[in-house]
Amino acid sequence: MTDSPRRPLQVHMFSALADNYCYLVRDPDSGRTAVIDTPEIAPIEAALAETGWSLDYILNTHHHADHAGGNLALKEKTGCTIVGPKADAARIPGIDIALGDGETFDLGSRTATIFDTPGHTSGHIVYYFAADGVAFTGDTLFSLGCGRLFEGSPEQMWASLQKLLAWPDETLVYCAHEYTQANAAFALTVEPDNAQLVERAAQIDELRSRNAPTIPSTIGLERATNPFLRPTSPALQATLGMTGAPPADVFAETRRRKDHF
Ligand code: ZN
Ligand code: FE
Repeated sequence: MTDSPRRPLQVHMFSALADNYCYLVRDPDSGRTAVIDTPEIAPIEAALAETGWSLDYILNTHHHADHAGGNLALKEKTGCTIVGPKADAARIPGIDIALGDGETFDLGSRTATIFDTPGHTSGHIVYYFAADGVAFTGDTLFSLGCGRLFEGSPEQMWASLQKLLAWPDETLVYCAHEYTQANAAFALTVEPDNAQLVERAAQIDELRSRNAPTIPSTIGLERATNPFLRPTSPALQATLGMTGAPPADVFAETRRRKDHF
């Protein structure tokens, strides 16, 4: 007997608002389909029409309007079920299923593990489809960046990001915004001699010059080039004048500098 190869989780990426990315995610076995966040409903409806998929779930990462603003209208139109962060359930419009750290969500035959990643907002969650090697990181981890600390401390955000660093290098990272080129410009100021970063920045410039997405990234690539994941880098510490400082302090200073960049 031979096992038939596992069919990959289907991910259909599209743009919304000025710089958001939105994703339809489908289990090819059951046809169960989710959308990651709801910046606005017109592009989501267009993506559903284009793929021919029908929506079963909204998977919210956090409460901001560019992530949950379309929840109620989309639920009314499709009858979908809304899943979101337990720690922020009161701020997720129409939420049906509230999930927190270590809990799981089944999209048909595929399972996402939930990670609480407070920092950008107090109740942010990330969806990690471990067996499929795919993660949706919302506004916690961006390509070459991380979310601004609107509702959390640097210590909280660093703890959140460390959870994601435990994933295998090849894990695909789908984040919620196309901020990569600006993030690269900042990253180069704090780690100018990181050869992998220099090479990646050039690739990003090329992609953006023809308006192509820089997403997805991988955890391995982020580990090697994203300054917010590299507070233990001696070169980064040296640029900041913080050689030997605790990682949480180096992360905090990196975030502070980016806020003023
Ligand atoms: Zn946000
Ligand atoms: Fe956002």
